Amino acid sequence: MLHNEPLDRIVSVEVMFDNARGISGEDPEHIQWVKEFAIPRLKELTGIDTDLIRNEKDDYLTEFFKKRGTKTKYPERIGKYQGFLLGGFCRMNSIGKMTPMRRYWRQFRRNYVSYVGIALDEPERLARLKSNSVSLLAKYGYTERMAFDLCAKYDLLSPNYINSSRGGCWFCPNNKVHGFCELRRKHPELWEELRKLSGVKNTISQNFCYDKTFAQMEKLMNWNEKQLSIIFD
Ligand code: SF4
Repeated sequence: MLHNEPLDRIVSVEVMFDNARGISGEDPEHIQWVKEFAIPRLKELTGIDTDLIRNEKDDYLTEFFKKRGTKTKYPERIGKYQGFLLGGFCRMNSIGKMTPMRRYWRQFRRNYVSYVGIALDEPERLARLKSNSVSLLAKYGYTERMAFDLCAKYDLLSPNYINSSRGGCWFCPNNKVHGFCELRRKHPELWEELRKLSGVKNTISQNFCYDKTFAQMEKLMNWNEKQLSIIFD
Protein backbone atom coordinates (compact mmCIF):
# COMPACT_ATOMS: atom_id res chain seq x y z
CA MET A 1 0.00 0.00 0.00
CA LEU A 2 0.94 3.62 -0.58
CA HIS A 3 2.41 4.55 2.83
CA ASN A 4 2.69 1.11 4.46
CA GLU A 5 0.38 2.01 7.33
CA PRO A 6 -0.71 -1.06 9.33
CA LEU A 7 -4.07 -2.49 8.30
CA ASP A 8 -5.82 -5.53 9.83
CA ARG A 9 -9.43 -5.20 8.74
CA ILE A 10 -11.65 -3.22 6.39
CA VAL A 11 -15.22 -2.53 7.44
CA SER A 12 -18.09 -0.86 5.64
CA VAL A 13 -21.53 -0.14 7.11
CA GLU A 14 -24.75 -0.44 5.12
CA VAL A 15 -27.65 1.66 6.40
CA MET A 16 -30.91 -0.28 5.95
CA PHE A 17 -34.39 0.96 5.06
CA ASP A 18 -36.12 -2.37 5.77
CA ASN A 19 -34.18 -5.38 7.02
CA ALA A 20 -37.19 -7.70 6.64
CA ARG A 21 -37.45 -7.11 2.88
CA GLY A 22 -33.71 -6.54 2.37
CA ILE A 23 -34.19 -2.94 1.17
CA SER A 24 -30.98 -1.00 1.62
CA GLY A 25 -30.99 2.64 2.64
CA GLU A 26 -27.93 3.30 0.54
CA ASP A 27 -28.15 4.74 -2.92
CA PRO A 28 -28.91 1.59 -5.02
CA GLU A 29 -26.16 2.21 -7.59
CA HIS A 30 -23.64 2.88 -4.84
CA ILE A 31 -24.35 -0.22 -2.73
CA GLN A 32 -24.33 -2.44 -5.81
CA TRP A 33 -20.93 -0.99 -6.71
CA VAL A 34 -19.66 -1.55 -3.13
CA LYS A 35 -20.68 -5.21 -3.18
CA GLU A 36 -19.80 -6.12 -6.71
CA PHE A 37 -16.80 -3.97 -7.40
CA ALA A 38 -15.25 -2.08 -4.47
CA ILE A 39 -14.98 -5.03 -2.07
CA PRO A 40 -13.26 -7.32 -4.61
CA ARG A 41 -11.05 -4.42 -5.71
CA LEU A 42 -9.97 -3.72 -2.12
CA LYS A 43 -9.16 -7.41 -1.70
CA GLU A 44 -7.04 -7.23 -4.84
CA LEU A 45 -5.18 -4.15 -3.58
CA THR A 46 -4.71 -5.10 0.09
CA GLY A 47 -5.29 -8.84 0.34
CA ILE A 48 -7.89 -8.14 3.06
CA ASP A 49 -11.60 -9.06 3.00
CA THR A 50 -14.09 -6.28 3.75
CA ASP A 51 -16.67 -6.88 6.47
CA LEU A 52 -19.95 -5.38 5.29
CA ILE A 53 -22.05 -4.87 8.41
CA ARG A 54 -25.47 -3.42 9.25
CA ASN A 55 -27.79 -2.92 12.19
CA GLU A 56 -29.80 -6.16 11.93
CA LYS A 57 -32.36 -5.01 14.48
CA ASP A 58 -33.22 -1.39 13.76
CA ASP A 59 -33.69 0.19 10.36
CA TYR A 60 -35.45 3.22 8.89
CA LEU A 61 -38.89 1.66 9.30
CA THR A 62 -38.43 0.64 12.93
CA GLU A 63 -37.28 4.20 13.59
CA PHE A 64 -40.23 5.69 11.71
CA PHE A 65 -42.71 3.56 13.66
CA LYS A 66 -41.02 3.97 17.04
CA LYS A 67 -43.59 5.38 19.48
CA ARG A 68 -42.64 8.28 21.70
CA GLY A 69 -42.71 7.21 25.35
CA THR A 70 -43.72 9.22 28.37
CA LYS A 71 -40.24 10.70 28.94
CA THR A 72 -40.77 13.86 26.93
CA LYS A 73 -41.22 17.54 27.63
CA TYR A 74 -44.06 17.52 25.08
CA PRO A 75 -47.05 15.55 26.37
CA GLU A 76 -48.84 15.96 23.02
CA ARG A 77 -46.19 13.68 21.45
CA ILE A 78 -46.71 10.72 23.79
CA GLY A 79 -47.77 7.58 21.93
CA LYS A 80 -47.11 9.07 18.48
CA TYR A 81 -44.82 7.64 15.82
CA GLN A 82 -41.47 9.36 15.25
CA GLY A 83 -42.24 9.68 11.52
CA PHE A 84 -39.85 10.93 8.87
CA LEU A 85 -36.29 11.82 9.84
CA LEU A 86 -35.88 15.45 10.80
CA GLY A 87 -33.41 17.45 8.73
CA GLY A 88 -30.51 18.54 10.90
CA PHE A 89 -31.32 15.90 13.57
CA CYS A 90 -30.86 12.72 11.57
CA ARG A 91 -31.13 9.64 13.79
CA MET A 92 -30.00 7.20 11.09
CA ASN A 93 -26.35 8.07 11.50
CA SER A 94 -26.45 6.82 15.06
CA ILE A 95 -28.83 3.89 14.50
CA GLY A 96 -27.76 2.76 11.06
CA LYS A 97 -24.04 3.45 11.21
CA MET A 98 -22.59 4.02 14.68
CA THR A 99 -24.54 1.30 16.53
CA PRO A 100 -23.40 -1.58 14.24
CA MET A 101 -19.89 -0.10 14.18
CA ARG A 102 -19.69 -0.10 17.99
CA ARG A 103 -21.01 -3.70 18.11
CA TYR A 104 -18.45 -4.70 15.51
CA TRP A 105 -15.50 -3.31 17.48
CA ARG A 106 -16.76 -4.71 20.79
CA GLN A 107 -16.38 -8.29 19.51
CA PHE A 108 -12.56 -7.94 19.33
CA ARG A 109 -12.21 -6.85 22.97
CA ARG A 110 -9.03 -4.88 22.28
CA ASN A 111 -7.97 -1.34 21.53
CA TYR A 112 -8.00 -0.32 17.91
CA VAL A 113 -7.23 2.62 15.68
CA SER A 114 -9.63 3.35 12.86
CA TYR A 115 -8.77 5.21 9.68
CA VAL A 116 -11.49 7.54 8.55
CA GLY A 117 -11.84 9.26 5.19
CA ILE A 118 -11.76 12.93 6.22
CA ALA A 119 -9.69 15.22 4.03
CA LEU A 120 -7.28 17.99 4.94
CA ASP A 121 -9.73 20.68 3.88
CA GLU A 122 -12.49 19.49 6.24
CA PRO A 123 -11.22 21.14 9.46
CA GLU A 124 -14.52 20.94 11.36
CA ARG A 125 -14.84 17.21 10.83
CA LEU A 126 -11.16 16.70 11.65
CA ALA A 127 -11.60 18.59 14.91
CA ARG A 128 -14.38 16.16 15.92
CA LEU A 129 -12.21 13.06 15.41
CA LYS A 130 -12.02 10.75 18.42
CA SER A 131 -8.64 9.92 19.95
CA ASN A 132 -8.64 6.41 18.42
CA SER A 133 -9.38 7.67 14.89
CA VAL A 134 -6.83 8.86 12.38
CA SER A 135 -7.29 10.61 9.07
CA LEU A 136 -4.63 9.31 6.73
CA LEU A 137 -5.84 11.77 4.11
CA ALA A 138 -4.99 14.68 6.41
CA LYS A 139 -1.76 13.04 7.58
CA TYR A 140 -0.48 12.79 4.01
CA GLY A 141 -1.85 16.15 2.88
CA TYR A 142 -4.82 15.10 0.74
CA THR A 143 -7.63 17.56 0.08
CA GLU A 144 -11.09 16.35 -0.99
CA ARG A 145 -10.20 16.94 -4.65
CA MET A 146 -6.94 14.98 -4.27
CA ALA A 147 -8.80 12.14 -2.55
CA PHE A 148 -11.25 12.08 -5.48
CA ASP A 149 -8.35 11.81 -7.94
CA LEU A 150 -6.67 9.12 -5.84
CA CYS A 151 -9.85 7.00 -5.82
CA ALA A 152 -10.19 7.47 -9.58
CA LYS A 153 -6.57 6.41 -10.07
CA TYR A 154 -7.14 3.16 -8.15
CA ASP A 155 -10.50 2.50 -9.78
CA LEU A 156 -12.32 3.11 -6.51
CA LEU A 157 -14.65 5.97 -7.35
CA SER A 158 -18.24 5.27 -6.41
CA PRO A 159 -20.81 6.03 -9.16
CA ASN A 160 -22.32 8.38 -6.56
CA TYR A 161 -19.47 10.81 -7.07
CA ILE A 162 -19.59 10.53 -10.83
CA ASN A 163 -23.33 11.05 -11.28
CA SER A 164 -24.09 13.44 -8.42
CA SER A 165 -22.44 15.79 -5.98
CA ARG A 166 -23.54 13.96 -2.82
CA GLY A 167 -23.81 10.43 -1.51
CA GLY A 168 -25.83 9.15 1.40
CA CYS A 169 -29.17 7.51 2.04
CA TRP A 170 -31.87 7.82 -0.64
CA PHE A 171 -34.41 9.00 1.95
CA CYS A 172 -32.09 11.66 3.39
CA PRO A 173 -33.92 14.85 4.40
CA ASN A 174 -30.83 16.79 3.30
CA ASN A 175 -31.42 15.73 -0.28
CA LYS A 176 -32.28 18.52 -2.70
CA VAL A 177 -35.31 18.72 -5.02
CA HIS A 178 -33.37 17.49 -8.06
CA GLY A 179 -31.94 14.62 -5.97
CA PHE A 180 -35.45 13.43 -5.11
CA CYS A 181 -36.46 13.87 -8.77
CA GLU A 182 -33.59 11.56 -9.72
CA LEU A 183 -34.66 9.02 -7.10
CA ARG A 184 -38.27 9.04 -8.31
CA ARG A 185 -37.19 8.72 -11.96
CA LYS A 186 -34.67 5.93 -11.46
CA HIS A 187 -36.28 4.08 -8.55
CA PRO A 188 -40.03 4.74 -8.49
CA GLU A 189 -40.48 1.73 -6.19
CA LEU A 190 -38.40 3.47 -3.49
CA TRP A 191 -40.27 6.73 -3.93
CA GLU A 192 -43.50 4.76 -3.47
CA GLU A 193 -42.19 3.50 -0.13
CA LEU A 194 -41.92 7.12 1.03
CA ARG A 195 -45.32 7.97 -0.41
CA LYS A 196 -46.91 5.15 1.61
CA LEU A 197 -45.25 6.44 4.78
CA SER A 198 -46.52 9.95 4.08
CA GLY A 199 -50.05 8.60 4.56
CA VAL A 200 -49.36 7.24 8.06
CA LYS A 201 -51.40 9.09 10.67
CA ASN A 202 -50.41 9.80 14.25
CA THR A 203 -46.83 10.91 13.57
CA ILE A 204 -45.14 13.60 15.65
CA SER A 205 -44.50 15.72 12.60
CA GLN A 206 -45.85 15.51 9.05
CA ASN A 207 -42.71 17.15 7.67
CA PHE A 208 -40.69 15.12 5.19
CA CYS A 209 -37.88 17.47 4.34
CA TYR A 210 -37.20 20.25 6.83
CA ASP A 211 -40.37 22.43 6.75
CA LYS A 212 -41.95 20.65 3.78
CA THR A 213 -44.45 17.82 3.81
CA PHE A 214 -44.13 14.99 1.30
CA ALA A 215 -46.91 16.52 -0.82
CA GLN A 216 -45.20 19.91 -0.83
CA MET A 217 -41.92 18.32 -1.86
CA GLU A 218 -43.63 16.45 -4.71
CA LYS A 219 -45.19 19.68 -5.91
CA LEU A 220 -41.74 21.28 -6.05
CA MET A 221 -40.36 18.23 -7.86
CA ASN A 222 -43.17 18.31 -10.44
CA TRP A 223 -42.59 22.01 -11.00
CA ASN A 224 -38.83 21.41 -11.32
CA GLU A 225 -39.32 18.68 -13.92
CA LYS A 226 -41.85 20.77 -15.87
CA GLN A 227 -39.37 23.66 -16.07
CA LEU A 228 -36.61 21.34 -17.30
CA SER A 229 -38.87 19.93 -19.99
CA ILE A 230 -39.72 23.49 -21.14
CA ILE A 231 -35.99 24.27 -21.40
CA PHE A 232 -35.01 21.04 -23.19
CA ASP A 233 -38.04 20.28 -25.34
S1 SF4 B 1 -27.14 10.43 4.59
FE1 SF4 B 1 -28.79 11.63 5.51
S2 SF4 B 1 -30.28 10.10 6.25
FE2 SF4 B 1 -28.35 9.04 5.88
S3 SF4 B 1 -27.31 9.05 7.86
FE3 SF4 B 1 -26.56 10.82 6.70
S4 SF4 B 1 -27.88 12.55 7.31
FE4 SF4 B 1 -28.91 10.63 7.92
